[in-house]
Amino acid sequence: MLVVGAGPTGLTLACDLARRGVSVRIVDKASEFTHGSRGKGLNARSLEVHDDLGVVDRMPESGVTHMPHRKYRGAKVIAETDPEAGRWRRRIRPTRQDS
Ligand SMILES: Cc1cc2nc3c(=O)[nH]c(=O)nc-3n(C[C@H](O)[C@H](O)[C@H](O)COP(=O)(O)OP(=O)(O)OC[C@H]3O[C@@H](n4cnc5c(N)ncnc54)[C@H](O)[C@@H]3O)c2cc1C
Repeated sequence: MLVVGAGPTGLTLACDLARRGVSVRIVDKASEFTHGSRGKGLNARSLEVHDDLGVVDRMPESGVTHMPHRKYRGAKVIAETDPEAGRWRRRIRPTRQDS
């Protein structure tokens, strides 16, 4: 199966196809990753999709409640700081009653 576009939609589709035993090739017209953040928080619909995929309860284990700040000059990373370090270093815990 050919998946065109390696954004979140294409990658999620490719992962689900692979889980179902379908061989996948992903192509993207971009030659490099987008610089900067376009997805630091998960919205409700994304959580619903991940729930359908059966992975939403494992996601908090790899998430944090805040993000470090990364500064770029062009494509070059020039600094990375974590202004919340030591203050809000707790991991997200599932809050759903059925988890
Ligand atoms: C500044 C910013 C901040 C954001 N923050 C959040 C956030 O905190 N939380 C959140 O949930 N969402 C956030 N979003 C939205 C989120 O980034 C998008 O909803 C998401 O990227 C959409 O994923 P997608 O795979 O549908 O499309 P895209 O991410 O746009 O990916 C599409 C891919 O397809 C490729 N492509 C397109 N046409 C072709 C073609 N003809 N041939 C080959 N490849 C092609 C593109 O190069 C691209 O890589 C943010 C968006 C922006 C701009």
